[in-house]
Amino acid sequence: MDVPDLFSTIDAPRTALRRQKRDSLTPPGGLLAVRTKDASVHPPGDPVMSGALRVAKGRGDIITSGREGYSGDGVHSSTSQHYTGTAIDVRYAPRRAEQIAAYARLGYVVIPESTHLHIQAYPVTA
Ligand SMILES: [Zn+2]
Repeated sequence: MDVPDLFSTIDAPRTALRRQKRDSLTPPGGLLAVRTKDASVHPPGDPVMSGALRVAKGRGDIITSGREGYSGDGVHSSTSQHYTGTAIDVRYAPRRAEQIAAYARLGYVVIPESTHLHIQAYPVTA
């Protein structure tokens, strides 16, 4: 007996609507079209971070810190890669292990902090 696939028929319009909503939230503009906490966040310009920005964009992770400030402003440690444009912070997603793996598999150094995930291009130097 041929059983009609009722579920795919029911879900199809909803899935299409979801996709449409998601697409309409994605602004044009390539790599800079990432979600940030607010306008104070400047995504890093160093090309070494383009992979991390692509992951953040694809996952919908919210960047809470990029390349802001200057060494000595007390926001990050003085040797922080945020100041050289080679680090970002993102808000934790519900599935942390999956989130960490998404960045780590591209070779980024991923450091879980208490309130956010820190992602940088190069290993920590002493
Ligand atoms: Zn950080």
